[in-house]
Amino acid sequence: MSYTIEGATGPWELVIGLEVHAQIISKSKLFSGAATDFGAIENSQVSFIDAGFPGMLPVINRECVAQAVRTGLGLEAHINLVSRFDRKNYFYADLPQGYQISQYKHPIVGAGKIEIQLESGDVRTIGITRLHLEQDAGKSMHDQHASKSLVDLNRSGIALMEIVSEPDMRSPEEAGAYLRKLRTIVRYLGTCDGNMDEGSMRADVNVSVRKPGEAFRTRCEIKNVNSIRFVMQAVEAEARRQVGVWEAGGTVDQETRLFDPTRGETRSMRSKEDAHDYRYFPEPDLQPLVLDESWIEELKCSLPELPDQKYTRLMRDYGIPPYDAAILVMERSTADFYELVVRGRDGKLVSNWMLGDFFAGLNRTGRTIETSPVSANNFGYLLDLITDGTINGKIAKEILEIMIDTGEAPRAIVEARGLRQVTDTGAIDAAIAQVMEANADKVAEYRSGKEKLFGYFVGQVMKAMSGKGNPALVNEALKKKL
Ligand code: ADP
Ligand code: MG
Repeated sequence: MSYTIEGATGPWELVIGLEVHAQIISKSKLFSGAATDFGAIENSQVSFIDAGFPGMLPVINRECVAQAVRTGLGLEAHINLVSRFDRKNYFYADLPQGYQISQYKHPIVGAGKIEIQLESGDVRTIGITRLHLEQDAGKSMHDQHASKSLVDLNRSGIALMEIVSEPDMRSPEEAGAYLRKLRTIVRYLGTCDGNMDEGSMRADVNVSVRKPGEAFRTRCEIKNVNSIRFVMQAVEAEARRQVGVWEAGGTVDQETRLFDPTRGETRSMRSKEDAHDYRYFPEPDLQPLVLDESWIEELKCSLPELPDQKYTRLMRDYGIPPYDAAILVMERSTADFYELVVRGRDGKLVSNWMLGDFFAGLNRTGRTIETSPVSANNFGYLLDLITDGTINGKIAKEILEIMIDTGEAPRAIVEARGLRQVTDTGAIDAAIAQVMEANADKVAEYRSGKEKLFGYFVGQVMKAMSGKGNPALVNEALKKKL
């Protein structure tokens, strides 16, 4: 079933295409040797090139090119052996050159694709139009001085990849899934850290609406949306606005808009600029970029296993369902942790505990796999204690909580707190006798046919044993005694 917005005149379909700016991970900038560290003191990482001094000559950074090629390969895209740089002219205080060096007609990477998984289980393929290299601009700061704006040029000249999708997405969910998948891929590749809150990945969101089956209508572009949730909200808000405009007999003008997350609406920023407004012309200070096929082959061979491949392999090797595998591969560190733990253990047991109580505990304490106080070894040992019958599942949950809070090893916790499961039938029988004596009325009810009470007795016996009874043995003995 496809996603639509219900208007007064019937259902409207959404058409969405994303342009994602992804900051390349590299030690130095695209055309200069200045450093790229995030959070450095303002204007401490600026060369004469980044500051736009006249007469400075840009020199292309080979590592940035390699990163773009790796990303292209990860998107199963065509790599163009010859690409070119152009000047995109515009004035802004954070762009001292007066132009941005970008790739316009001849990008380094051509058509590719990304597969996304939806909540429904459906898989959709979203086309990638192109990926091109360009310089980032600096950053204007309007909140540092009472009457002046300041500019920080540390970001000026950092390499960006602009990754443009086809208008293939049809719902906010698909836009979110696309962005999440793209982020996972670049993180696996190590080409962009994908941290949207630090601005190293930002999305321009193009949205239009149409009646099902119609040709595309005019789109609006929502600039610089900086979280996946906001992208989804912006799509929804903008689509509803456009439906309103069309249905009121108006027309949607092609324009650039901004999303205001606190009000949940988009507002006009400027009318859409066209390519000719920028007076693009070939960058005279740079040669065309010519790549060697054997170098691309080398880069291809050194790519890590990508999320889609890992997804298929985890299901095959460890017999886990698609849902579990999909979550495990979202972050490489999560999949790595899983694979460390699962060695010699049951695949589904490990994923159940990881995706359930372990993730919940990390969330509760504001931690991630990377900062987890529970090592893969200790997590595995905890599961072994369940498997070999030392503890039951309920106690295991308590132990896991303690491990997350203190980082202690599971066996030490069991010993120190006497949490071993009781399998001694004498002790179980004694607890049962005690419970039956205290609940003579309920025993009578049970015996006269109220079998639902069985669960109550199990609970009472477990409670009498401080949760440490072996559940199977308790069940068995209770049946006999009752
Ligand atoms: P520009 O270069 O002006 O930004 P492009 O044709 O390169 O325009 O498209 C930019 C983005 O807009 C692409 O991601 C594309 O998928 C998307 N797009 C194009 N047409 C539409 C449309 N009618 N509705 C929604 N998105 C669209
Ligand atoms: Mg654009």
